[in-house]
Amino acid sequence: MSSLRSCGGAAIPLADEAAAASSPGDLDPEAFRRCGIQLVEGIADYLAHIEAYPVLPTVAPGEIFQQLPSCVPEQAEPLEQVVAEALSLLPATTTHWQAPGYLAYFSVTSSVPAMLGKLLEAALNPSRMLWRASPVATELEQVTVAWVRQLLGLPDDLFGMIHANSAVLPALVAALEARDLHIRERGLAGRPDVPRLRLYASQQAHASVAKATIALGLGLESLCLLPVDERYRLRVDALEAAIAHDLQEGVLPVAVIATVGTTATTSVDPVAEIAALCQRYRLWLHVDGAYAINTAIVPELRSAIAGCQSADSLTVNPHKLLGVPTGCSLLYTRHPVFLKRAWSIQAAYLAHPDGDGVLDLGDYSLSLPHGMPALALWMTLRTFGRTGLIARIRECMRLARLVADWIDASPDFERLAPTPFSVVCFRLHPPLLDNEDQLTALNAQLLRHINAQGRFFLSHTMLPTRQGDHTYTLRIAIGNMRTTQAHIEALWQDLQQAAHAILTAGASGVTEGQLWQDLQQAAQESLPSIFSFSRKA
Ligand code: PLP
Repeated sequence: MSSLRSCGGAAIPLADEAAAASSPGDLDPEAFRRCGIQLVEGIADYLAHIEAYPVLPTVAPGEIFQQLPSCVPEQAEPLEQVVAEALSLLPATTTHWQAPGYLAYFSVTSSVPAMLGKLLEAALNPSRMLWRASPVATELEQVTVAWVRQLLGLPDDLFGMIHANSAVLPALVAALEARDLHIRERGLAGRPDVPRLRLYASQQAHASVAKATIALGLGLESLCLLPVDERYRLRVDALEAAIAHDLQEGVLPVAVIATVGTTATTSVDPVAEIAALCQRYRLWLHVDGAYAINTAIVPELRSAIAGCQSADSLTVNPHKLLGVPTGCSLLYTRHPVFLKRAWSIQAAYLAHPDGDGVLDLGDYSLSLPHGMPALALWMTLRTFGRTGLIARIRECMRLARLVADWIDASPDFERLAPTPFSVVCFRLHPPLLDNEDQLTALNAQLLRHINAQGRFFLSHTMLPTRQGDHTYTLRIAIGNMRTTQAHIEALWQDLQQAAHAILTAGASGVTEGQLWQDLQQAAQESLPSIFSFSRKA
């Protein structure tokens, strides 16, 4: 593919638009109306035909970059053209998180009401750094986090706030603040009066826990990652032994991070037991419920929050199962006072002009909170209602159960972890093949073939074994609102066919390279061509 990165040439804008775009000020509301309709119609078409695209785009690393002009255009371009090109470029080159065949990592949905909420949010462009910076952004958020708290059955006295990502870092800063070590003022470096501090989590905890430990300046040696049981849950006996050992060695235990719904298998740490231990040793308990705590909306899945009621802080990401785009993670805490003590900064421009009793959310987070993330969530909660959300989450669980049952009944596949929610961990394991290296190669090949076909996108993980090594594991993560039973049936058929093709090709001497090329070619032929929009020389 030839490079189109030159800077020469420019589109010739329509005369009146060029004048408008080249003079100071924004485009007028009529341009917004016209191009907004064009954009919304393009999005509606995209969503209506989303299954025409391969879930993983057929582009090589760097290919998109090479195709785009390397300089900003010298002259204004008509917005219609910019919108048309964006609508042409993006669907052909993005990974389709919104597609029903997207079953990788955690499958999520940006629902229609949420998309509209995001558009409205951008139109208002507010900040919640101070109440007066946007009273409605601050108060709508408080209403919405209370709604979610009620939906999940969490205690009424939890303070809540929306963050862009799972907020383990701000929570742990509050945990440190609660120890009265005066880290906010004095820091940690060069202090003989502060021993090594310790955080505890399971080996299955999300990477954000390790990143938070790094950001806190504690160093990864301060994070004790504990072994898990046969269901991938933190072992409480190992936790207690680690705490006792640390105390003996003069290390100061500070906090435990328990996970409800781990990233690899959605296992649930025994939070109630961990909470009891935390109480005994006076440790802060943070619960990372990013994915699975959302399911507590469903009455029969309420047990997901067992023990969470006594957590000191807890995160849940509506952007995982409640239909809002990424960037909506709720942090709840029983101790907002420590959040505020940790994060509030006195700056003249951040003075509290509306009085001390007024909630200025900038006091409770690392960065000044911008935008109005509650709006998309509020509109989504209203549009689907509790009943609608329950139905959607239940359906994800039902589909996961179905595929788990098919795997269990198959002589060629095996499930590698319990399926408490909507993620199924499994692998191809034909009878008589027990060599782990060969099984790894076989499953890696199966994953490549499924993903190359374009209808589905799966991801993999490595699960620890009792022997201390790891098992290459495929994951089917169901969570997208568009995924139906027909999709799951088609996936199961594809998996069986691909497995059969790989195994028979292996037996007949056909190389993986050949098979792979055939699959890619078949996928390419059935797909819209990329870069179909006109480019400037
Ligand atoms: N915690 C868990 C268990 C996760 O699986 C993830 C992401 O998948 C996160 C935290 C971080 O979530 P995010 O970055 O979407 O806020």
